[in-house]
Amino acid sequence: MPILRQIAQLGRPVLRQTARPVADPADPALQALIEDLLVTMAEADGVGIAAPQLFEPLALFIVASRPNPRYPSAPAMEPLVMINPEIVHASTETETGWEGCLSIPGLRGLVPRSREVTVRYLDRHGVSREETFTGFVARIVQHEYDHIHGTVFLDRVPSTRDLATEREYLRILSPPTVAGGNDR
Ligand code: ZN
Repeated sequence: MPILRQIAQLGRPVLRQTARPVADPADPALQALIEDLLVTMAEADGVGIAAPQLFEPLALFIVASRPNPRYPSAPAMEPLVMINPEIVHASTETETGWEGCLSIPGLRGLVPRSREVTVRYLDRHGVSREETFTGFVARIVQHEYDHIHGTVFLDRVPSTRDLATEREYLRILSPPTVAGGNDR
């Protein structure tokens, strides 16, 4: 049975460590951790989560874009489990977009990221894969990849003026309609 786990919050040393590679993807304990990551991410309305966020400093994360209350306009995809990922190519072309983090509640920031990245990783069955992602999903991949290297999105926000509270961020995305007047 997957367990809903506590999410490490900014300030916990585990978020600043470099994660170690997974030795055996078939290890039942690792498969159980993947299940815990999936349920904990879904419960928290995340579009991705990395093992260090559950206090496990392992090179493993999940990318699972889907529209939810925290990211209303996210594209939908099946969750992708990435074990021992390596970004083998990142476009020089960048895009700036809003990010949040389950480990940094209530805060959003504008982060420049490569528009396109190619990742080599092992899937949850231990099969080696290489895939290219663009746009918002590429952004999630880079955000989670940072987590396994002890970096959080705040480290990549160019200025503190590019920060907003989650409440104001959601207002930017869905401004109150004049006719509806339902913003109170
Ligand atoms: Zn995060």
